[in-house]
Amino acid sequence: MNHYDYIIVGSGIAGLYIALLAIERGSVLVLTKGSIDDCNTKYAQGGIAVAMGKDDSPELHFQDTMAAGDGLCDAEAVHILTDEAADCVADLIKFGVPFDTLDGEITLTREAAHSEPRIMHAGGDATGEHIEVTLSRQVRSAPIKVLENCLASEILVQKGKVIGVRALDSRTGSVEEYHCQFLILATGGAGRLFKYTTNSDVVTGDGIALAFQAGAEISDMEFFQFHPTVLRLPGVAPFLISEAVRGEGGILKNVEGRRFMPDYAPEAELATRDIVARSIVREMKKTHSDRVFLDVTHLSSRLITTRFPHIYRFCQGQGLDITKGLIPVAPAAHYLMGGVKVNNWGEANLPGLFAAGETACTGVHGANRLASNSLLESVVFGRRIVQRTEMAAPARRRKKRSDEAISYRLPRRKVLPKVPPLNLPNLQSLMWDKVGIIRSGKSLKEAASILAAWQSLLPQPTDRPTYELNNLVLCARLMTEAALLREESRGAHFRSDFPQTLPEWQRRIVFRENAIK
Ligand SMILES: Cc1cc2nc3c(=O)[nH]c(=O)nc-3n(C[C@H](O)[C@H](O)[C@H](O)COP(=O)(O)OP(=O)(O)OC[C@H]3O[C@@H](n4cnc5c(N)ncnc54)[C@H](O)[C@@H]3O)c2cc1C
Repeated sequence: MNHYDYIIVGSGIAGLYIALLAIERGSVLVLTKGSIDDCNTKYAQGGIAVAMGKDDSPELHFQDTMAAGDGLCDAEAVHILTDEAADCVADLIKFGVPFDTLDGEITLTREAAHSEPRIMHAGGDATGEHIEVTLSRQVRSAPIKVLENCLASEILVQKGKVIGVRALDSRTGSVEEYHCQFLILATGGAGRLFKYTTNSDVVTGDGIALAFQAGAEISDMEFFQFHPTVLRLPGVAPFLISEAVRGEGGILKNVEGRRFMPDYAPEAELATRDIVARSIVREMKKTHSDRVFLDVTHLSSRLITTRFPHIYRFCQGQGLDITKGLIPVAPAAHYLMGGVKVNNWGEANLPGLFAAGETACTGVHGANRLASNSLLESVVFGRRIVQRTEMAAPARRRKKRSDEAISYRLPRRKVLPKVPPLNLPNLQSLMWDKVGIIRSGKSLKEAASILAAWQSLLPQPTDRPTYELNNLVLCARLMTEAALLREESRGAHFRSDFPQTLPEWQRRIVFRENAIK
């Protein structure tokens, strides 16, 4: 059978959770381009935010999320996120996710920029792994069809409605069409755009590129979050040192051994990620070093080994005992706030098309995501998609957002006579150097010209690496052009030539293939 009620592309938290809800209502196919567990979800450490502490409330969680988003959050979407959090987390518990407890009560920790302890975690710092393993086990035991090594390569549209997806079996090279009533993109972000990244190899912006090519709106691509503290050891792949380590009292020191965060922000180590990441970059520049240090040696060894067993064991495997020695860290690419623009029911502007998780832009993160809100966003808006598909046809009109958004097309750029050869390492270095933590008009223009030239040279894709490279180049263009348009600094987007936040830029940048300027 090649026709399903729901086709879900992706098997991270968003895809698997939606599949488990959708199977109660109809037939479900999950396509995933690697094995079921290849995704970012399994790397999540800190946890999932939900206001359930005795001094906490959804309203406080709302306020913290809005503050982090730096004026660009969609307030209505954030209310939904914080109000519906507890119900969705109850679903995860029902599916069997073993959140950590003490004396029968769920334990909550505090992370940077959260005013209250509200982060639920599992296995200490192995939250994502527990979520992924639990949900994938449930999916395998449900009557849900899962096709692994199956890469969605094109969205099928007929008479303006999405009717399915074309997909490549990357083991056999065969291409099949799958039809459905509801197509849900849950393909994750685009973290492989950058040279230093915490993201899995599968996170190559595919859903965003496919949606854009099909005519969907793509929003907020200039907002990419860099995580401040990622292990920087020669020859070791970037490994995240969770925010929660600073939440529990970890201190940042420069290579000269001096604590520097109080020089940059009153909240010091607990400032938002963008502030901490930029402060580290400046401190590394000042001290001519490619790293700083995170110090937890003043915390009890028991706290470190029980609260962060995963980080402790990983570092120990690299010959570093973090209870006794400093942890070398530097920022790395981490999370994409932008993506396929959806309304509060996860609907894109094309009938039949939905997006959830990191690939979607619901507007809850604004210009900067609050830590531990992305796993939450995946389930809250994932559940709404399934609720939406239960509502009687005809489809509702898309909600008009209160925020102002301006549509653009990707501009034509003068073709450069000579550009570096296009390959993944060159793309990742270009993005890291020119479109990274600190940007400028000059660096962005250089990148924009090279990317436009690369796009004109892209080969017709036939296998997974070429599809992924093509998708990354398109996402890189969307990000660079948006960053060039936004002549201000806000949240995670920082321009050295426009360091101020400007009221006239309190609006969103939306790209659409056929947009009218
Ligand atoms: C190291 C790390 C730590 C993090 N810690 C936290 C945390 O503590 N709390 C928090 O809230 N967030 C955290 N995040 C962010 C969070 O993990 C992600 O935003 C979230 O897991 C995204 O889930 P997802 O389901 O949208 O995508 P993913 O989990 O990335 O899954 C995407 C899926 O789509 C599939 N796919 C992609 N393209 C295609 C295609 N063309 N065809 C078929 N399949 C495709 C992939 O194979 C994969 O299965 C962290 C992220 C990282 C990298």
